[in-house]
Amino acid sequence: MVLLHIYPEFIAPLFDKYNPLPDGELKTKINELAQSLDFPLQKLYVVEGSKRSAHSNAYMYGFHKNKRIVLFDTLLEDYTPVGRTDQTNSDSTEVPESDREESNSGKGEDVNKTDKDCETKKIGCNTEEVVAVLGHELGHWKFSHMLKNIVIMQGSILFSFFVFGQLMNNKQIFAAFGFIDQQPILIRLYIVFSFIFSPINEIESFLMHILSRRFEFQADEFAVNLGKREKLKSALLKLFKDNLAFPVADWMYSARHYSHPPLLERLRAMDQYKPKQE
Ligand SMILES: [Zn+2]
Repeated sequence: MVLLHIYPEFIAPLFDKYNPLPDGELKTKINELAQSLDFPLQKLYVVEGSKRSAHSNAYMYGFHKNKRIVLFDTLLEDYTPVGRTDQTNSDSTEVPESDREESNSGKGEDVNKTDKDCETKKIGCNTEEVVAVLGHELGHWKFSHMLKNIVIMQGSILFSFFVFGQLMNNKQIFAAFGFIDQQPILIRLYIVFSFIFSPINEIESFLMHILSRRFEFQADEFAVNLGKREKLKSALLKLFKDNLAFPVADWMYSARHYSHPPLLERLRAMDQYKPKQE
C-alpha cells in the first residue's frame, strides 16, 4: 500500500521524464471528459516513453480526490518533446492525409515523431482517439476496477500468510524435501511459497486473467456508452499496429496468458454493445 503511493510520485520520475500536458485542444477535451464524469482530475502528464520504446499506453493513478492521468508520448500523434525538433517532415507517406483528421489544425508545420536511426514513421492517435482511450480508462475508474484489484491482492496475501501459518510447523513436509534435522524458517518459507504455492498460483493467475478481461470489456462498453465506439476502435487498431502486437490468438492460449482480451474479440464485442447515447 505504501509503494502504491510512493512509486508514481518518487520512483517513476527517477527513470522517465514527466511533463505536464501543454495547453491545447487535447487538454481541453480531456478536462471536459473528466468534468462530465465527475472524475477528480488533478494533473495531466505526458511521459517520454519514446526514448525507451515505441510502445504506447495511458494510465491513471491516485487515490480519492487526487487523480492523475499519464499519457505516453508515443500515444500522441502530435506530441514533440520539449527541446526536440522534428528532423524531416516531407516524408509522411506512412499515413494517408485522410487519416489525420484535425490533428494538425492550427499548426503550420508537420510534426512527425522521428527517431534518429529510423525512417520517419507517424505513430500515435489523434485527439479524438486519445480521448476515446481515456474514456476506456475512466471506465476502469467508474467501475472501481483498481480498488477491486487491490482488495483481491490483499486477500491473496492474507491467504498466503494463512496457509503458511498452517504449514510452517508441519515437520513432515520439510522432511520430505530432505530437511530432517534442521528446518530453518527461510527454508520453510521457500518450500511453502515455491512448491506448495505453485499450483495455487497457477489457478489464481488464471482466475485473475478471467477477471481482468471482464474488466477490459466493461471499460470498452463504458467508452461505447460515451459515444466513442468508432474512435476507440480506430485507436485500438492504431495502438496494436504501433505496438506490433500480434492480432490473432488461440482462445485457450489467450485465456491462460493474456490479461487483456485479444484485439479482434474486443472489436467484435464493441460492435454488439447498445450505447445509451451515440
Ligand atoms: Zn483497460
